[in-house]
Amino acid sequence: MMQTLLDRVLPASLYRSDTAHAALRRLDAELRGSNRCSDAIDRLQSAKDPLFRLLRHRFDEASSQALTLKALNILLAKTQFRARHTHLAANPVGLVVDPSNMCQLGCPGCVHSSSPGASERFVWPNGTLAESRFRALMERYGPTAVAVYFCDYGEPLLNRNTPTLVRIAKSYRMQAMLSTSLSVRQFDAEACVDSGLDFMVLSIDGVTQAVYERFRRGGQLDLVFENIRRLVDARRRMGRVTPVLSWNLLAFQHNVHEIPEALRMARRLGVDQFRVVEPFDVSWDDPAIQPAEVKPRVVHLTWTPLRILRGNQGETAYTLDAEQIRRAFEQPWDRPTEQEAAAQSDHACHWLYRNLVMDATGRVMPCCAAPSPANNLVFAQFDTATDDPFNSPRHRQARALFAGPPDRGDMHRAAQPASPDLPCASCEWDQTKVNIGSREIDRYFRQTDPILFDKRTRQLLTSW
Ligand code: SF4
Repeated sequence: MMQTLLDRVLPASLYRSDTAHAALRRLDAELRGSNRCSDAIDRLQSAKDPLFRLLRHRFDEASSQALTLKALNILLAKTQFRARHTHLAANPVGLVVDPSNMCQLGCPGCVHSSSPGASERFVWPNGTLAESRFRALMERYGPTAVAVYFCDYGEPLLNRNTPTLVRIAKSYRMQAMLSTSLSVRQFDAEACVDSGLDFMVLSIDGVTQAVYERFRRGGQLDLVFENIRRLVDARRRMGRVTPVLSWNLLAFQHNVHEIPEALRMARRLGVDQFRVVEPFDVSWDDPAIQPAEVKPRVVHLTWTPLRILRGNQGETAYTLDAEQIRRAFEQPWDRPTEQEAAAQSDHACHWLYRNLVMDATGRVMPCCAAPSPANNLVFAQFDTATDDPFNSPRHRQARALFAGPPDRGDMHRAAQPASPDLPCASCEWDQTKVNIGSREIDRYFRQTDPILFDKRTRQLLTSW
């Protein structure tokens, strides 16, 4: 009890000596001085065993190896981001994966929009993610990544094998998150809870069918509520607190009056948090759908102690793939031979250094923008663990765009012209907000061990 209170009011480093801060701060300082990738790798190699031994006081061998790799990979990715390297030795910190490319809804603005002519706007093939492909992806990036977000444009629960995919991700000591409409007829609530899924976003934009389906075209609200009840009931029966359920409501002019009732409904159903979210503008697809001027907010409806959430990603809850983790731990970092670009631009796209996006057919994209006939965002195809799509030629060309002289007029644009079919050259997306970024890294390490990874340590890992 005293320990918990202390953890809440003081940085652990002030009263305990066994945080990872000193070791990681030293390494971070050394990495700041190394612009060359090979120097950074030398420093990482020599920091690996001491960090592992420190972690080994608190965790089993596989967990200590996995956590060492994940922390060092983040510091390397930060270093290569700062130096604007184009060929990375660092792996993606987070993965965004579509278990299914299909969706039963037709929301405006989406690749699945049911608006007339919408199917011509995007290049989005149907497909279901094969377990073998996902295993290969995990073999390549699982030991170093902290989280996987199961959803880009498809409905993940249309793949009946999604709970198995979640379990595979958990075996690499990753956090697993998923986003769903929950308007699905065949839903195995027990399998979902038992998979170890940490966090589930429920996209529900109203509490009456007429209002809800203005945006969630084809969705059935009764079915959504019934599936929430089954999920909450399965969690209770199985004695679990995860997945943490977050009702996300996109605030539009047509549904804003239902927000108070939606909050009450979320509470009644046993959902853990309620978020009012600012939507993307989709009026270009359906002019009747207009964003509301409402402040985004989150209301926490239940309280889950950190120690219980920690249990969901610790070595006691799920069987880690100790063999794959050990192999990755013993392997030295690859040393890219390509000439490295010097950092000159003030801005670079964070997606290109932090996350990797793969759809159910194995198409690799650099970010969550949707490929279209005008924007060829498919950078690579991932089939086997020997592929390295994070260093595809197009990824490297895209990174090179930000290694030129600064363009202070528009920090969100690439700094020098590139091949016209590289969408990054004319991108107007928010290039700093990635799906698995600083907030998710902070959550991962806080839930892992808030003493070892105290606030100052987490700041080192999250400040880019
Ligand atoms: S520059 Fe734009 S298109 Fe390219 S990866 Fe970043 S966000 Fe995506």
